[in-house]
Order: sequence, then C-alpha cells, then structure tokens
Amino acid sequence: MAKIIIDREKCKGCLLCVSFCPKGLISVDKDLNRRGVKPVKFSPRPVLRSPQGEGGSFSKGGCLGCAMCAIICPDCCIEVYK
Ligand code: SF4
Ligand code: SF4
Repeated sequence: MAKIIIDREKCKGCLLCVSFCPKGLISVDKDLNRRGVKPVKFSPRPVLRSPQGEGGSFSKGGCLGCAMCAIICPDCCIEVYK
C-alpha cells in the first residue's frame, strides 16, 4: 500500500491537502509545530469525515498513491511512496 510522509515542521496548515485527498487520510494534528500552527498528519486508515455537515462517512481503502496531496501542497511538504 502506498503512503505519504509529511514534513510537519514545514507545513503551514493551509489544509489544501486535506481537501484534496480522495480517501480522507489527512487530518489536522493536535500539536503545534515550530511555526506555531497545527500541521497535518497522515493516517493509513480513513478518518471520519462529514463534509456535508451531517451523518459523516468513512471512505474505504488506504492511500492510492495518487499524489494529489503532494501536487496541491504549495510548500512541497509531502512525499509519496508507492
Ligand atoms: S497520495 Fe492520494 S490517497 Fe494518498 S494521502 Fe495523498 S491524496 Fe490521499
Ligand atoms: S497542503 Fe502542505 S502546507 Fe497545506 S496543510 Fe497540507 S502539508 Fe501543510
């Protein structure tokens, strides 16, 4: 299964990658980084999402290695491994 590695110290917390991951595998970390923002983290299993505000759903399956997250990141914080 593919995976990504996020440079949490470079991350500025813009959340673009969270929006673009089709599997919902990226979420906000609870701890601040050195920049003073909450960076994102990768979870190999899908996290609960409720983009429509009600109900919520689990997307199925792990990382596709599609690299959408890495492409969209403006600060090149994400590396994808297949
Ligand atoms: S490579 Fe694709 S599926 Fe994997 S975390 Fe990034 S956007 Fe999500
Ligand atoms: S797109 Fe990049 S800078 Fe923005 S939250 Fe994701 S990893 Fe951080």
